Amino acid sequence: MDTKSDAGFQSLTDNIGTFNPRDKLLLIPEMNRAGARLLAATCRSHGIRARVLQTYKGMDLGQEFTSGKECYPCQVTMGDILFFIQQEKEKLGRDFNPENYVYFMPESDGPCRFGMYNKYQRIVLDTFPGLQNLKIGSITCRGGYSLAGMIEKKKVRNLRKMMYLSLLMADILDRLLWRIRPYERKPGSADRWMETSLQDMAGAFEVHAADKNVEAMLDVLDAIVCKGKDLMDPGMARKPRIGVVGEIYLRMHTQANQDLIRNLEKHGAEVVCASLAEWVNFVSYIEKRSAATKLRVNLKQGRIASLRADLKQMLDAGLELIYRESRQKSLYRRVWAQLDVAEDHKIAHLEHTLATEDVFSFDIDTEAPLSIAGIMEYARSGYDGVVNVYPFTCMPGMTTAAIAKPMMAQTGVPYLDAPYDASVQPGREAAIRTFMYQAQQRQRSKGSQALQ
Ligand code: SF4
Repeated sequence: MDTKSDAGFQSLTDNIGTFNPRDKLLLIPEMNRAGARLLAATCRSHGIRARVLQTYKGMDLGQEFTSGKECYPCQVTMGDILFFIQQEKEKLGRDFNPENYVYFMPESDGPCRFGMYNKYQRIVLDTFPGLQNLKIGSITCRGGYSLAGMIEKKKVRNLRKMMYLSLLMADILDRLLWRIRPYERKPGSADRWMETSLQDMAGAFEVHAADKNVEAMLDVLDAIVCKGKDLMDPGMARKPRIGVVGEIYLRMHTQANQDLIRNLEKHGAEVVCASLAEWVNFVSYIEKRSAATKLRVNLKQGRIASLRADLKQMLDAGLELIYRESRQKSLYRRVWAQLDVAEDHKIAHLEHTLATEDVFSFDIDTEAPLSIAGIMEYARSGYDGVVNVYPFTCMPGMTTAAIAKPMMAQTGVPYLDAPYDASVQPGREAAIRTFMYQAQQRQRSKGSQALQ
């Protein structure tokens, strides 16, 4: 691709932000396969043309336009957008117009580099003639990923609710697959069923999300669970259960984590991975927590003027969290009527778990407290092993590893750190096999203890 720099730093403020994608095509990068597709379907239901970018096909471009020091997910998504542009240019020729697209890349605050992805990608896009006109649509964790400005005001509330539902549904589809695939009667049948199920569910969101017909989507879910259950061999013994925590992109993106879950399953595991909703709920929880802290400090210091705003922020975030957790619970209950998929962690409970050991704190608001608490929770609830997956050099991932490894050595629950980048480590398969051997031993020893 020809490059020629023709945009300044002003572009970082002018060409990144909340843009209304009306009359444009919203390009959604794939982190979680189901999540991205259901999110795109929800957008389309609300009149936003949205498409999921093909992923991992442009890794050579991603590597060409990064130095290697960036986070691995930044490299993957960089490649995804550049690959799309390359393909689109080849397809449309002179008709290719960068103004017709908005590339969706949210961000977050804090010590993490995720807040820099869209800035870095903006700088790279701006080195290509004309691509400064391809806007980057961004929402931020500041304000709980508000969608204001992206769509007409009257639609914002419903779009927000339905987007959350789409993430919940993606979590459920993943959990169904991980519960069913290790026990499938015919090899490959669970994957085929999930592909069809995802299409059915995306179709349901596209048709029903805008008119809030949640019941119609739940009917589709019931049918999916019913078909999936039939694929299982009821005679198979329960396999060692492995919990996966870690950096959200890596644990969700199967190509980037070199199909970690399938690999664990190949060596005899039944896996449960931390969910998408866990992160979204964590954002609301932290917002509520920070507002409560601010309120306390302002009360102590007698700053009466800001109390009202603090209280409002705390109540808004608290209500949002209550809404989300109750919606989540009702969806899981619907599935439990047919199949026992793993329940999701409640954020307040995770904070409580962390506090009991006093090893880390929610005051450090990266994914590290979530992952460390998640590891402890898996160990306490009888899982036979835990994997922490993260991009090579990821700061919260390495913090988690530093704390979890000695802690898990004391519990005796097998634990594996799994850092990934684009290279294939020759010892990875052996490490997973050894870890799974330990997990099987642990499951057996628990079984024999129960018999004594
Ligand atoms: S969590 Fe890790 S990979 Fe993600 S932005 Fe932060 S440092 Fe990078």
